[in-house]
Amino acid sequence: MDTYLTALDVAFSLPSQPVSLLRPHAARRAARFFSEKFPGRTLYAVKANPSPALLETLWAGGVTHFDVASIAEVRLVRRTLPEATLCFMHPVKAEEAIHEAYFQHGVRTFSLDHQSELDAILRATGNAADLTLCVRLRVSSKHSKLSLASKFGVDVTEAAPLLQATRQAADSLGICFHVGSQAMSPQAYADAMSRVRAAIVAAAVTVDVIDVGGGFPSAYPGMEPPRLEDYFEVIHDAFESLPVSYSAELWCEPGRALAAEYESLLVKVARRRNAELYINDGAYGALFDAAHLDWRFPVALVRETESRARDVDFSFWGPTCDDMDHMAGPFPLPADTDAGDYIEIGMLGAYGGAMRTAFNGFGVEGAVVVDDEPMASMYLEGEPEGLQLEVVDFGRTSEHFSRR
Ligand SMILES: *Cc1c(COP(=O)(O)O)cnc(C)c1O
Repeated sequence: MDTYLTALDVAFSLPSQPVSLLRPHAARRAARFFSEKFPGRTLYAVKANPSPALLETLWAGGVTHFDVASIAEVRLVRRTLPEATLCFMHPVKAEEAIHEAYFQHGVRTFSLDHQSELDAILRATGNAADLTLCVRLRVSSKHSKLSLASKFGVDVTEAAPLLQATRQAADSLGICFHVGSQAMSPQAYADAMSRVRAAIVAAAVTVDVIDVGGGFPSAYPGMEPPRLEDYFEVIHDAFESLPVSYSAELWCEPGRALAAEYESLLVKVARRRNAELYINDGAYGALFDAAHLDWRFPVALVRETESRARDVDFSFWGPTCDDMDHMAGPFPLPADTDAGDYIEIGMLGAYGGAMRTAFNGFGVEGAVVVDDEPMASMYLEGEPEGLQLEVVDFGRTSEHFSRR
């Protein structure tokens, strides 16, 4: 794969397809941060971005455990990282998937939220005696931008019989939950941990794993969360005050926080109509969340000479023929942005490329590695600086290019 210094260097090659700009150094930094500072074990939630190159990068940053949710994810991670520990954390699984995961891929950790799933796991593994079984509790998503509260999880008032039955069957018993994605306050985890406490007390079981799930935030326009250290501190304190903390392990399953800074997207403007830009990627590409959740991503005009025009709020149309292929933004860009220009859309490493479809023939994109910093970061002190280095590939310098 080609390596460039910045989005501008990529734009010099005049791509007509959208190009993913990959920043392995940012993903490695995020992985190291979690491996070193989270007061327990970190599992990467593969669904946020299943790219094998990212999996290898996270592994290099110290992440050795992976939260997988489908048999395809199990096979992918096993193929990519033969030594990795896989945890199958989807509470509603096909029995064949459990069987293959256990017997062919060495998976020993499974989640469940119902007696029928416990029965399925025991049947599919031949009543294995070496299972870590995590009971998924339903918790509130009220602090999060994206709810995960409705679909999965046993209510704390009904959890006792399931916890007791799972305790009987499991070598190791866990309790897991998910506070919803992009949790904007550490309080989300404190609230969830009080439900865990209530569930443990009601069931009177010993618990070996407390898994606080994902939800750790990244930085987006209009969403500046507290520092991740604040989340870790709240989780640590809540964990320490549980009656099982002396013997239990603490786990987390970040997806977004580990992947978001890994990738941005370079798109080309095909046409301008008033404050609407027709670009070459959209709702069926890496911009699903921008279209369907009105998620805002940082944008920057990528030009050799910085525009002096003031910023105007733009919206985007994607490349398909569909009216739904629309991203409202607002995306502030210089008022003279026009057809032929390139735009970098940042922070798309999580739930960006992972959502891409080939609808209407527009699924193809290139990918290159760039060396500069992501457009926002949870892992850099202060504002990231643009790199001011010699551009080897193109024989020119980018010192007059600054996007910030
Ligand atoms: C999606 C998911 C995650 C990752 O969530 P983020 O909000 O991306 O951190 C973790 N665990 C489970 C079970 C999930 O479904």
